Amino acid sequence: MTETLGSPVGRKRPDSQLGELHLRGVSRAYGAHTALNPLDLTVKGGEFIALLGPSGCGKTTALNCLAGLLPLTEGEIVLDGRRVDTLPPEKRGFGMVFQNYALFPHMTVRANVAFGLRMRGVGKAEARRRVDEVLRLVRLTEQAHKHPGQLSGGQQQRVAIARAIVMEPPLVLMDEPLSNLDAALRLQMRSEIRRIHQEFGLTTLYVTHDQEEALSLADRLVVLRAGRVSQIGTPAELYERPADPHVAAFMGYRNLLPLTIASADAAGAVAEGRDLRLHGTPVGARPLSPGDEVVVAVRPEDLRLAEAHEQAVTEAVAEIVEYHGRVLHVEAVTRAGDRLYLKTGRQVRPGDTVTVAVAPERALVFRAPDEEGTP
Ligand code: ATP
Repeated sequence: MTETLGSPVGRKRPDSQLGELHLRGVSRAYGAHTALNPLDLTVKGGEFIALLGPSGCGKTTALNCLAGLLPLTEGEIVLDGRRVDTLPPEKRGFGMVFQNYALFPHMTVRANVAFGLRMRGVGKAEARRRVDEVLRLVRLTEQAHKHPGQLSGGQQQRVAIARAIVMEPPLVLMDEPLSNLDAALRLQMRSEIRRIHQEFGLTTLYVTHDQEEALSLADRLVVLRAGRVSQIGTPAELYERPADPHVAAFMGYRNLLPLTIASADAAGAVAEGRDLRLHGTPVGARPLSPGDEVVVAVRPEDLRLAEAHEQAVTEAVAEIVEYHGRVLHVEAVTRAGDRLYLKTGRQVRPGDTVTVAVAPERALVFRAPDEEGTP
């Protein structure tokens, strides 16, 4: 195989790089329990996709279906025009990185990384060149002679990544690869993974329950809930316009206020209830009418102390005040007992009564989900 090494940044591997991967109606049931409802997704070469959702939502099921570790109940997976869901895992040739690194403890780092190439019968010189390059990329050249037991958790995870990408797979699947690392290392490895993805020109599908991780890593996110896609979009799309209150909660809209519509028109909606009254922006196709039950989602950074001229949402008593440098994080409780989360640069002490406001475009008004969770 001929390759151009070229510049290390944005290096492309035309021989193995994925063009397009299509998941069409991919679903999986365990007996009567549907773990994954039909999932449709197109992944373009070079994309970093995060599958995000709470425990049990079907992330690992989706990833294992892709990897070939789990047969589909229905649907198909097509890689560059070729159906692959009927192939066994080794024929799909996807790279896999899991949370338990599954390294061979008796082999050196170099031997671990070279193992797959040896199995595939790649010549010695070629294998050495590829292993060297990948070790350089994951910054482990100095550790190449060591055994996994002599490495830190982050280094071991980088060996696992190196072992996957040295095979130059069309797609790399990662299942919560950072969950065994401590918080500081997780942050460091997060940017390492993004850098490696870019420098090696990978296409990556990454499973996580950590929205911050997903938002910081991925070009696009697939948010799953109870085996169903809630929303697919870029971080900015999900952040600015979550499709439902569950996605909103995942995206840091900590204030989810159950209210009732007082009035609604094309310009916006007025929602009220308990001690609160606010102007918000309806989200969703169906227009709202007075009396409709809604959930209003507001991020703490958008709920602020009202200026004198502003229309207030409510009054509340500050209960917990946390110092975070220039801003304070405040938890305040209304007379009716609702807890509000806000951030402010002004001085607030526990026990102070605060008057809070929100800009209408920052208060998203969702129709209240029914018992099945459908808005
Ligand atoms: P986690 O983050 O906890 O790993 P997940 O989002 O990856 O969760 P899955 O492991 O895909 O979730 O599981 C989805 C659903 O399918 C869950 O309700 C789970 O209990 C169920 N499930 C998973 N594996 C099996 C199995 N082998 N047999 C029966 N049910 C299963």
